[in-house]
Amino acid sequence: MSTNNLLNRRRFLQLAAGTAAAGMVLGGSTAQAAEAPHVVVIGGGVGGATFAKYLRLYSPETRVTVIERNRQYQRPYGSSEVIVGNLDMDAITISYDALQQKHGVNFVFDTVTGVDFATRSVSTAGGVTLSYDRLVVSPGISFDYSKIPGMESAEAQAQVLHGWNAGDQLVALQKQLDAVPVNGTVVIVPPPNPYRCPPGPYERAGLIAQFLLTRGDKSPKVMILDPKNGFTTDVTMLQAWNRLYGMNLPKPFEKNYTAEQLATFKTHEQSVIQWVMAEEGGRVIKIDAAKKTVETEKGVIQADMINLIPPLKAGQIALDLGLADASGWCPVDMKTFESTQQPLVHVIGDACIAGDMPKSGYSANSQAKVVALQIKALLAGKPPIAPVLQNTCYALAGRSDYGMFVADVFRQNDKGILKRADQPRYLPFNASEAQYRLSAVYLHAWMDSFTQDIFA
Ligand SMILES: Cc1cc2nc3c(=O)[nH]c(=O)nc-3n(C[C@H](O)[C@H](O)[C@H](O)COP(=O)(O)OP(=O)(O)OC[C@H]3O[C@@H](n4cnc5c(N)ncnc54)[C@H](O)[C@@H]3O)c2cc1C
Repeated sequence: MSTNNLLNRRRFLQLAAGTAAAGMVLGGSTAQAAEAPHVVVIGGGVGGATFAKYLRLYSPETRVTVIERNRQYQRPYGSSEVIVGNLDMDAITISYDALQQKHGVNFVFDTVTGVDFATRSVSTAGGVTLSYDRLVVSPGISFDYSKIPGMESAEAQAQVLHGWNAGDQLVALQKQLDAVPVNGTVVIVPPPNPYRCPPGPYERAGLIAQFLLTRGDKSPKVMILDPKNGFTTDVTMLQAWNRLYGMNLPKPFEKNYTAEQLATFKTHEQSVIQWVMAEEGGRVIKIDAAKKTVETEKGVIQADMINLIPPLKAGQIALDLGLADASGWCPVDMKTFESTQQPLVHVIGDACIAGDMPKSGYSANSQAKVVALQIKALLAGKPPIAPVLQNTCYALAGRSDYGMFVADVFRQNDKGILKRADQPRYLPFNASEAQYRLSAVYLHAWMDSFTQDIFA
């Protein structure tokens, strides 16, 4: 047995004694369990929870402890449906019971405040210290308001909400939306790339447009003020908005369609959704949260409600631990997702830089399963496998029966993680009504089966 293993075993026994005194269960308290390797996970969201479950399935002898600050998980995926009242908070709130009782994953409900990489121990705000053989970090995202003048203060951030991390902000946004006057203006400001859930801000715009029309508004406005000139699923989404919400295609975007495709677009007198791309002056220069005004390169817009999703970075704890680089995201070895900043630490989910993979729940889930296999191999002294990863991002155009998606398979090689380029990724242009309806059915079915895959 190596010195490290001896140290680990001694530390685990000390910890097991300490946490038992504090009334906490680490799981596997027998001497044999104490011999088993211990993997600690920071964050019990999509990445962390999937990893914990699958490592226990692949390697039941390995002890897995998740440190998560909330006792229940509120899923961000699909959470815009709460803002428009299609779902309530209970519908997106998930218990950790099955992971603990069925899969033997240990949970410590606490906030991680530090990691001592030299002694391989994680500490929490509540005073718990846990040692690890391997550490998996999946803390999601944090928000960078420094790039949006007017939004630096806590007061402004309490008035102009993002709703990008589930939680109370969803209910607050729902109230703000309810308070929008008839035929009022809702402004949505999507973040620059890269960010969590590429079609998400646009799906939210569609859902809000549909909500305002369904409640009876005749000429509401949903303005998207974008720092970008395109987004995932844009070609199909803009076609849908042209059909459903009278959106006229921005001139500079026309080049993305063939003449035949362009001929299918109608010109409308009045548009519910307006997408102001960067090239047309959509970039936000300043927000006055109290007055609800948004200054763009094109002019000042008076809104009745503003939903700003500011630039994003890796979750705060990843930044505090020095796992991120200057981009604000965490570089990893793309085969094992082991941090290039710290050995024996793997970063997965939105926080990591994963080549062509988008920051999505599907990606986090796929990475987590791969890393569970890699860590199983590494703990056994075996070489890691060559991973295949996948992602599908579903989105609604607004109406609950009009769906679309982008689907990708990724392979890792010495150039990084690359998407396979030889396959169709989207629904065909001008897909049939039935295909859009079916995509919406797939979306809702995926939402349920995906949650089961992670948490059941
Ligand atoms: C509106 C919206 C719609 C979306 N729709 C989709 C979709 O349709 N499909 C899709 O694939 N993805 C979707 N996503 C994206 C998806 O939700 C995220 O990509 C996914 O949750 C990322 O997983 P993660 O593990 O990286 O982070 P998270 O799921 O956010 O988990 C991070 C966890 O870490 C915990 N944590 C953080 N710091 C600490 C700390 N210091 N101590 C203890 N715990 C900590 C947090 O409490 C949290 O539980 C959507 C997102 C949004 C906002």
